Amino acid sequence: MFDKKTVEDFDFAGKRVLVRVDFNVPLDERKVADDTRIRAALPTLEYLLDQGAALILCSHLGRPKGVTPEFSLRPVAEYLERLVDAPVYFAEDCIGPKAESAARALLPGQILVLENTRFHDGEKKNNPEVAKQLASLADVFVDDAFGTAHRAHASNVGVADYLPAVAGLLLEKEIRYLGQAIADPKRPFVAILGGAKVSDKIGVIRNLLGKADQILIGGGMANTFFKAEGYAVGDSLVEEDALEVARALLEEAGKKLRLPVDVVIADDFTAEAGCKTIGMGPIPDGWRILDIGPETVAGYARVIAEAGTVVWNGPMGVFEFPRFAVGTFELAKAVAKSAAISIIGGGDSVAAINQTGLAERVTHISTGGGASLQMLEGQALPGLAALLDK
Ligand code: AMP
Repeated sequence: MFDKKTVEDFDFAGKRVLVRVDFNVPLDERKVADDTRIRAALPTLEYLLDQGAALILCSHLGRPKGVTPEFSLRPVAEYLERLVDAPVYFAEDCIGPKAESAARALLPGQILVLENTRFHDGEKKNNPEVAKQLASLADVFVDDAFGTAHRAHASNVGVADYLPAVAGLLLEKEIRYLGQAIADPKRPFVAILGGAKVSDKIGVIRNLLGKADQILIGGGMANTFFKAEGYAVGDSLVEEDALEVARALLEEAGKKLRLPVDVVIADDFTAEAGCKTIGMGPIPDGWRILDIGPETVAGYARVIAEAGTVVWNGPMGVFEFPRFAVGTFELAKAVAKSAAISIIGGGDSVAAINQTGLAERVTHISTGGGASLQMLEGQALPGLAALLDK
């Protein structure tokens, strides 16, 4: 099932280890606002420290254009120091003299966090020179960044050309959970898909039609299906250029694909907008669908309660506005209460489950939205392919 070498296949004593972590965390005024991804990296870091390794951590943060102080990883390094029982140093660049001297000075049991890899253009272009320079800092490479596994960048794929490369414990766990759910799910296998756009999830729906027993649709993407079915959708978010593919998917899916039977509509796209719940039918002009309705929630919750496996990606409505967050939260509760193997991916659905306070009842909360979607599409992950085979 998991056919790549992992940290458990390697002896790290006295080695300098370059670890690609996913420290792409939300910051608020340069303070870590959500530490989920940092905590998720700890098992691998602690394992390697126990083995007597010196750890050189690299990650991207956000989408900087060149060197941008607000995207510095320094606050993340400072935060990490509070979580680990090891000194944590910071290098103001991920390659070049500053990184090299800091890496040389590093002793076993110590951690060095390198500055944002995306401060260099070559990171996203998988430039071999950047990869080579990063690799030159260490003796071995561990990839623990599931969140970027769907990208072929210098710090996850390029470096593997220059160092023995193995998977970290988080990467392994993520791939095992989702891989198992897709390849050999406990049935019924139910997928819940939401979010803004159907175009982002066409590949996922196509692949899941052959694997899942039910696909429950919500969020803005449902609107495009409604319009494809011939409903007037008022001012709802619709992807006109996805109507044809939506029509084809509906036809192919038959009863497997379920759309909301009632919706919450709003007279404006704001948190304070006037709203009402209606059975699904023509939406009047000036109104837009912003959430699924209670009947839909109840129907979906029944399916979830009886599921063997539930995979969820994407909110059921504009959950940033509390008035239109009810559908998403109620489904989060239904998933948490279900005895099914449950896997949640995507920043918004993960935020929703965290806010319900029921996160510990979910089998696995993924740290990678894009990477998990790519797996649900049935596509290989370049970040994984680059690692040594077992
Ligand atoms: P995605 O990035 O595709 O997962 O989509 C997440 C976004 O979809 C969130 O910001 C939601 O506010 C948005 N969204 C969900 N439902 C709707 C809707 N009915 N109309 C407009 N936007 C929506």
